[in-house]
Amino acid sequence: MVQFSGKSVYKGIVLGTVAVFKDREEPVRRKRIEDAAAEILRIEEAGLEAKAQLKALHDEALSAVGEVNAAVFEAYQIMVEDEDYRKSIYNMIRTEMVNGEYAVAVTGDNFSRMFSAMDDDYMKARAADVRDVSNRLIRILEGREETSRFLEEPAVIVAEDLTPGEIVKLDRKKILAFVTVEGSSSSHAAILARMMNIPAVVGVPVNLEEIHDGMKAVVDGFQGTVIFNPDEETCIQAERKIAEELERRRLLENLKGKETITLDGKKIRLCANIGSASDVGYAMENDAEGIGLFRSEFLYLGRKDFPTEEEQFQAYRQVVQTMGGKKVVIRTLDMGADKQADYFNLEKEENPALGLRGIRICLRRHDIFKTQLRAIFRATIYGNISVMYPMIISVEEVQEIFKIVREVQEELDRAKVPYQYPEQGIMIETPAAALISDELAKMVDFFSIGTNDLTQYTLAIDRQNQGLDDFYNPYHKAVLRMIRMTVENAHKHGKWVGICGELGADTALTEKFVQMGMDEFSVAPSMVLRLRKKIRESTWNHIRQ
Ligand code: PEP
Ligand code: MG
Repeated sequence: MVQFSGKSVYKGIVLGTVAVFKDREEPVRRKRIEDAAAEILRIEEAGLEAKAQLKALHDEALSAVGEVNAAVFEAYQIMVEDEDYRKSIYNMIRTEMVNGEYAVAVTGDNFSRMFSAMDDDYMKARAADVRDVSNRLIRILEGREETSRFLEEPAVIVAEDLTPGEIVKLDRKKILAFVTVEGSSSSHAAILARMMNIPAVVGVPVNLEEIHDGMKAVVDGFQGTVIFNPDEETCIQAERKIAEELERRRLLENLKGKETITLDGKKIRLCANIGSASDVGYAMENDAEGIGLFRSEFLYLGRKDFPTEEEQFQAYRQVVQTMGGKKVVIRTLDMGADKQADYFNLEKEENPALGLRGIRICLRRHDIFKTQLRAIFRATIYGNISVMYPMIISVEEVQEIFKIVREVQEELDRAKVPYQYPEQGIMIETPAAALISDELAKMVDFFSIGTNDLTQYTLAIDRQNQGLDDFYNPYHKAVLRMIRMTVENAHKHGKWVGICGELGADTALTEKFVQMGMDEFSVAPSMVLRLRKKIRESTWNHIRQ
């Protein structure tokens, strides 16, 4: 028995038989050619054929994973024609008089190495895309058919890396899980795995020479682990976990695709909270109707320096693309208090929860704020984005935010960067904001109530201090009154209001919130279906008070 850890792409657990996918066995041979022009013509013809194949794959993927995710095959078609890529191949043919297959293989390796060496995770993930496109061209030049790997039985697929092309060609019913040595959780292959609800762990440091078809393996996407040749005890534990997971899903499964609607017909939007792009699969799997809170500060945590605009843009784009046209509410960074990163160089504070946190940092450090806003605005053209600001306490703050937003718009307009102006909302998570929510409602498009902080600041109980648990009452009348007041003030001004704090997932309060008129609930992905069940059992207009 041998266990490995990697990055989980999709949470699920399986015990199954391994099928190892090895890369192409035959290395591409270097041959001397006499006529460079004829060789370049061969590449051009192969390029046309590759584009036709990719178009067919795109059409196939459309029905399997939807338009947004199938778009990867459109991107590949563009890559086939990329000027730098083509030029590099042609130069090599002309200067070294080598065969096209060899020139494509070397260029593909060079480009893919260049992407792998980049700091940015998204760009790293493009290495597999270049390899995929190059292998396709070589296959066409060699006159080989594209053989999709045929699986007799459902299997745990173990490979160096998998390309989206390979995944789409496989029969979904035969894939138990994916395990790859390479690969990042933002690769297109990972996005597809998530979309197809396939348990997957990537970046698993296993030597493929030691793995062979027919071996048993436990892939645990919850833990991000893979165990090859599990012993009996491990198999029993895995089977138990699988059975529990199945039962949990079976009970809730029949709520998927159903409307989130009360007994008396009020529709409510039921969304999921996420902390990173890789959580989206979990939201989708649980049939969330959108992302009600993307805690963007997680992009800033656990690293040595600020995420670049490009990195953030890619993360936001990935989330909205995966969600298709569904609403994604991105909260601007809420650092400070319990969420600290050294490179922010924030001074040590006596009371960090009452200190420089959330929007206060952004209003002090416009550079950080604007970088994030630019990244969010740029991502707006890929889906349905709303933006919201945390820890608001005053009208003046909102005015200042909008001034900065306008500056960002002007910068983008000047640079001719496309974007769509996103819906603008604020979090109501301080008593101050709740109490002046009538004034704030006139300024923004929506409210999202953060009950975690609203409770901590209303009750003056540090949410981090477990020693105060016996004083902590999440059902305190003061908190519930503020929630009600916020909903009423939003509606008075024709704005929608949601709840995204933990209290929103407390099914003991669901009916109460529904009766208050809450328009949206956003909860942990694992709570989505449970909440749908509860909302479908609730009445809205029954004893409205
Ligand atoms: C909240 O305060 O309720 C909230 C949703 O934000 P966070 O938990 O990230 O502070
Ligand atoms: Mg909060």
